[in-house]
Amino acid sequence: MTDDNCVFCKIIAGKIPSKKVHEDELVYAFHDINPWAPIHFLIVPKAHIASMAHVGPEHAALLAHMMTLAPKLAAQAGCGAYPEGGFRIVVNTGAEGGQEVHHLHMHVMGGPRPWYKG
Ligand code: 5GP
Ligand code: ZN
Repeated sequence: MTDDNCVFCKIIAGKIPSKKVHEDELVYAFHDINPWAPIHFLIVPKAHIASMAHVGPEHAALLAHMMTLAPKLAAQAGCGAYPEGGFRIVVNTGAEGGQEVHHLHMHVMGGPRPWYKG
């Protein structure tokens, strides 16, 4: 369920420090070290799943949990209310999808524009 060489598994295990946003049995959320927007955090499953290309029906409840958690955590992190505020959810997948860390993660970005990227 974990990969010893995976940076996000190490973060979840507390072997690499991170700024925690949320934690429960299924997921860990923390601020991105190199934010593209005034608010930028990642939601990652505690189990090592390499990417969105690796999910199946057995992950439906986990993905639903990540998706429904995102708006709640975005609001708590300071994202403005819809429709003037809001946030962006991104899941990069594979090299052509721009994925650099091969542990499934959801980027949640928000805050006043302009953003640094995206
Ligand atoms: P990807 O390109 O794989 O979708 O995004 C990986 C993200 O993880 C990047 O935005 C990068 O800044 C972030 N990241 C990589 N290593 C670390 C780390 O050690 N700590 C934190 N907090 N974020 C990281
Ligand atoms: Zn991992």
